[in-house]
Order: sequence, then structure tokens, then C-alpha cells
Amino acid sequence: MKLTCTKTGTYRAITHVTRYQAGLVCLAMEFVAPGNYIELIGHEFEHALEQAEGIDITAIAASKCKTAYMTAGGAFETARAISAGRTVAREFHEHR
Ligand SMILES: [Zn+2]
Repeated sequence: MKLTCTKTGTYRAITHVTRYQAGLVCLAMEFVAPGNYIELIGHEFEHALEQAEGIDITAIAASKCKTAYMTAGGAFETARAISAGRTVAREFHEHR
């Protein structure tokens, strides 16, 4: 994980995915400070699970089924990650 102290990005957090021919998948999570880290960490880890499960987010976004889409900045977003982040944040605040 990398904490970035800039507000120039069009995102609050992002996961960069690099796939290698041997099957290795590397994920680099970047969080822009300051922010709601609880929701963002849950959100970005859901993206990590999507990658581990081999979900083709690019194909889903292209199908226009509304569970995944490309953002104005060219990144992909999923309803699943948005929901997971909100769930993690809600559970965190309910159990503090
Ligand atoms: Zn996302």
C-alpha cells in the first residue's frame, strides 16, 4: 500500500494491477490523503478479491450491465467494491 499526499488525482484510492505471463498478479494500492481510509481500504481490497477471482472487469464494463464501468479518469469501478467499502465503513462505525 502507498499513501499519497496529493489532491491532484481524480480518485481517492486506486488499485494498480499488473499481470505476468507466469500467472503472478501484483496489486499496488494507492490512497490519497486525507480520506475515509476505512471505506477505501474495504473498497480496494474488494478489487483485490475481484482480481484473485479472475473477474474480467473490462469485459463487464464493456457489456454495459452496470455492475462495472470505466470512470472519467480511465480506471474501472465496480458496484461490488463500492458496496464492500460502504459495508466495511458501516460495520467499523457500528462497533467502535
Ligand atoms: Zn473502486
